[in-house]
Amino acid sequence: MRATSNEAHISGAERIVNYDQLAGMFTDLICRAIDSYELPDKIYITTDTIDADLITCARALDIKTIAPPSCKDARCVSQEIIRESGVPAKAIKRAFDLLDSGPTPEGKNMRGAIIMDAFTGERLEPDEIRGIRVSRVDYTEDTRMSLRERLKANGIYHERVMDALAIATKVSGREEAVAELCWSDNPDYTTGYVASKKQGYVRITNLKEKRSVRGGRIFFVKAAGLDLDGYINYLERQPVIINRAGNIN
Ligand code: AMP
Repeated sequence: MRATSNEAHISGAERIVNYDQLAGMFTDLICRAIDSYELPDKIYITTDTIDADLITCARALDIKTIAPPSCKDARCVSQEIIRESGVPAKAIKRAFDLLDSGPTPEGKNMRGAIIMDAFTGERLEPDEIRGIRVSRVDYTEDTRMSLRERLKANGIYHERVMDALAIATKVSGREEAVAELCWSDNPDYTTGYVASKKQGYVRITNLKEKRSVRGGRIFFVKAAGLDLDGYINYLERQPVIINRAGNIN
């Protein structure tokens, strides 16, 4: 599902379901769209058939929350975590500068993510306006319910956390993946995250200033020997179902 207002992206969500769940899922997705922070004027729902033989399963990344008192502190903490993944300071600076200034050539937010050479900071995605859209990832119903309950018990439940965790879990599941950085373009949502297989999904409050409309995602990758088309195909086309929850710290 993709909802827009005046052509600007408002909300999006994606599910992998069996045919008999389709009708109910449409209703859920429309409710989700109209519950967005702004009422959309267009809601698109697209369905596609997936070859069940292509599905792979994954365990959700462990979740941790860090609550720095200010945006400046949050930036330091997040940069340190990315550095620990092996990304040098120069590439980290480029990443933050891009998300702060608007990563498209016109200085706007992208629809998808930047793929960045973790060593040089060079952008590798073929389209700097659209970026790469991670797609075809979802939870089994049991895992979704159990994660939801555990996030609620920890006071950090929000559907956007569920969605972002699904994306981060898929993104981290490749040999090329070094780390991911994300914060939302929603001006009221300032918690972002850094994620990697090793460090898990680390939520960081205050990662951007309140009321900022800037946001985006960066996938830092090992570029040496990278099969870019194969990597993009994995992110956009390979179905991944998350069938085990991780730990919440
Ligand atoms: P959100 O957390 O949904 O506000 O998204 C933050 C930013 O991440 C957006 O501005 C997009 O640039 C990017 N993004 C959103 N959804 C996806 C996705 N499915 N795959 C890759 N990047 C995305």
